[in-house]
Amino acid sequence: MSKQDQNQRHQQRMERKKAVIDASIARASTDKGLLLVLTGNGKGKSSSAFGMVGRALGHGMKVGVCQFIKSRTDTGEEAFFGKQANCEWHVLGDGFTWDTQDREQDIATSRRGWDIARRMLADPDYALVVLDELTYLLNYSYLDAEHVLADIAQRPPMQHVVVTGRAASLPLRELADTVSVIEDEKHAFRAGIQAQKGIDL
Ligand code: ATP
Ligand code: MG
Repeated sequence: MSKQDQNQRHQQRMERKKAVIDASIARASTDKGLLLVLTGNGKGKSSSAFGMVGRALGHGMKVGVCQFIKSRTDTGEEAFFGKQANCEWHVLGDGFTWDTQDREQDIATSRRGWDIARRMLADPDYALVVLDELTYLLNYSYLDAEHVLADIAQRPPMQHVVVTGRAASLPLRELADTVSVIEDEKHAFRAGIQAQKGIDL
């Protein structure tokens, strides 16, 4: 095939593609507060949520972040986003479940944390609420899943919520508008490389 034929075929293919894409864009015309669930064993769940925090803040939207489970307050995300005027950042964990080894304490901490999350979920001023690592609190029954899902479902209609954590339950996935399952193909940690600043924390 001559170069000219190749270019012409490419142009025709792109014309057809554009017609299909333009039609789908025209169909997607509603606005709605979304529930996004980022789950799976691969890396990139929390960091994706923080990417959306950056986008929302860039648009002048008010953002609330609840970090469950983790207790460290020396992460790059907190140092950066925590000082943005429109961003409210809460670290609400005592550490990983295998560090605390104390179910009663984990439950009490989770309930205190959920009170803060629930306040945000009831306030339409928050355009985006991130519930980082929430899935563990549900999977270990630290919180009552039905109540938590009801609090999320009853939030203000234009408020977006991002939930992260491994093994998101079926009811949570069903409630969500967008679900991404991040696959673990390879992780540097398994090659003996420790968590790297700017990448993992
Ligand atoms: P990130 O915050 O980097 O986006 P994540 O939210 O997808 O990670 P978590 O399970 O919350 O995943 O990860 C907490 C920490 O464990 C992060 O430092 C992350 O890089 C690391 N991590 C994530 N996935 C894996 C994995 N499959 N194996 C080993 N370490 C992982
Ligand atoms: Mg995470």
